Amino acid sequence: MAFYFDNAATTKMSEKTLELYTSTSSLYFENPSSLYPEGIKAKEINEKARQSIATLLKVSPSSLVFTSGATEGASLFFSSLLLLPASELISSPCEHEAVSSWYKVLEHFGWKITYLKVKNGTINCDDLKEKLNSKVKVVSVMATNNVTGFNFPIADLVKTVREEEKKGTKKILFFSDSVQALGKTNLCLKDSGVDVACFSAHKVNGPKGVGLLYLRNPASFQILSKGGGQENGKRGGTENVSGNVAFSNALTEWYSDESREKRAREIWETLYVELNNLGLKINSINSGSPFILSFVSPLPSEVYMRKLSDKGFLVSSGSACSNNAKGKSEKILSSMGIKSEDAKRTIRVSFDKSTKLSDVKALIEAIKELNGR
Ligand code: PLP
Repeated sequence: MAFYFDNAATTKMSEKTLELYTSTSSLYFENPSSLYPEGIKAKEINEKARQSIATLLKVSPSSLVFTSGATEGASLFFSSLLLLPASELISSPCEHEAVSSWYKVLEHFGWKITYLKVKNGTINCDDLKEKLNSKVKVVSVMATNNVTGFNFPIADLVKTVREEEKKGTKKILFFSDSVQALGKTNLCLKDSGVDVACFSAHKVNGPKGVGLLYLRNPASFQILSKGGGQENGKRGGTENVSGNVAFSNALTEWYSDESREKRAREIWETLYVELNNLGLKINSINSGSPFILSFVSPLPSEVYMRKLSDKGFLVSSGSACSNNAKGKSEKILSSMGIKSEDAKRTIRVSFDKSTKLSDVKALIEAIKELNGR
């Protein structure tokens, strides 16, 4: 069996989550909008899943919209901006394509996009302060970068935005793609004050095709979604009850494992020290996610990745989605200050809460062999 180190791309469902996914599909297959008791029961089960996720995230259930994943969550948000007069948006330069590809659409409709600087793995609030002006309507910064694991100071950036808001009368929406932060950093939607965030279940051992859009103030934001009026009119379409139930179980498993971050950090540090000893450059920093470590290999990423995969170790060159669009991952790395020649040789190793130290030690041995040590 292969050693799996590509958990930032996707994770495997736990046995209990998979069991719940299949049993719910069979026991509560009825449409939650149907008015007979079985439909009402399916609706109840769906709402119970929403309530339990809301409790874990310490937010109100009415602020959570179930979606088919973060890409759809981001699409619901950014397409809805087209209902507003064109204005200005400030973003990090290293957003996932689920977000950044919308900027071209917004530009087409007259929006101006301005990018913040990423320096030493972080974004400076003063840079944001300088770029804010009365025309800015949206600030969009991801919580954790999927390629390097850099954690951005979301709560401080939101605070900067709120201070700017006080100067005028306009509301500035703060959007944060929080896919890689869920369960993996001390994400707190309520305290950070973000207005909108998106998540995917499959990054935390939930099913694929399931996600959430968080809206701090759902009544104040009109979402461009048509259909049957499900999800309080925010996302039409028959609810994925079994997927949502499985998501809620997966997240419960993450949150009830209180030492997950500590274990991941120990694994991260072991790998960091060994790679450093081998003289390899490391793109990630230890204030970043303990679940992602990105380093520069001696060979082009695709070659090194294949050599590791031949030995039974599955890693990535960057973002799995970017593998479909060669060069995009390198561009994202360069936007974070990583030299182009290093970006071309970058390897991402990513863990989940069940990754074992012994597995990482086996990976280290494989890297030593490949590097002729
Ligand atoms: N945002 C980030 C940071 C991601 O890592 C991903 C997936 O890799 C996405 C968005 C898109 O998630 P999904 O493909 O589940 O919609």
